[in-house]
Amino acid sequence: MVNVHKITGSHGANAYLIDAQHPILVDVGALNMFDALKKFLNPTDLEYIILTHCHYDHTLGATQLAEQTGASIAIHEEDAKLLDDDWATASAMFGTHAPSIEPDMLLKGGKSLDLGDISLRIIHTPGHSLGSICLYGSGLLFSGDTIFVAGGIGRTDLGGDAHALVDSIKLLTALDVDILYPGHGDITNQNVNAQIRASLKYAKINRKAYNSKGFYAFCIL
Ligand SMILES: [Zn+2]
Ligand SMILES: [Zn+2]
Repeated sequence: MVNVHKITGSHGANAYLIDAQHPILVDVGALNMFDALKKFLNPTDLEYIILTHCHYDHTLGATQLAEQTGASIAIHEEDAKLLDDDWATASAMFGTHAPSIEPDMLLKGGKSLDLGDISLRIIHTPGHSLGSICLYGSGLLFSGDTIFVAGGIGRTDLGGDAHALVDSIKLLTALDVDILYPGHGDITNQNVNAQIRASLKYAKINRKAYNSKGFYAFCIL
């Protein structure tokens, strides 16, 4: 089993170092992540920085860390288009501008990342943002802000799509997940498939609330 280390960034989002033969970092929502990585590996061994979506709290340190480590930045092609948009990246909500990021690789759903001792499938999961992705392999699911523990779902009012989120979470309910690594909050290994089904239920409630222009709950940035 590959080692996964959680590093919580300055805006509360989780970064995950997947310490595989070809190490990658999933999200980098804080500056100066280089030193945090040193605890686990030689940071210049990092090969890819995979961004689950374009939001500021997941991408802030990407360019800096790529420059320091030589790692390549990858993001889904739909969110790559939004990287310099202050609103689509939620940067305006933090009172600032979108960080300058130039991806080295554009991701598509259905492709896999071969990290040597683990292979992770890229699942395109639009909803929280149009180019959100999840990574799945060997019973591990890195869900970004698509779902969280205990039935949590990502908010869909930041340029997302409440209908697409339901369809995306349906894809996740077809997986067999042992450990869920979400973009915020705790990791869980307890009845994970049931927790994902709970997220699907809340995503449907969220969709209904959107249809009736009502209030939506259970949502995280
Ligand atoms: Zn987030
Ligand atoms: Zn987000």
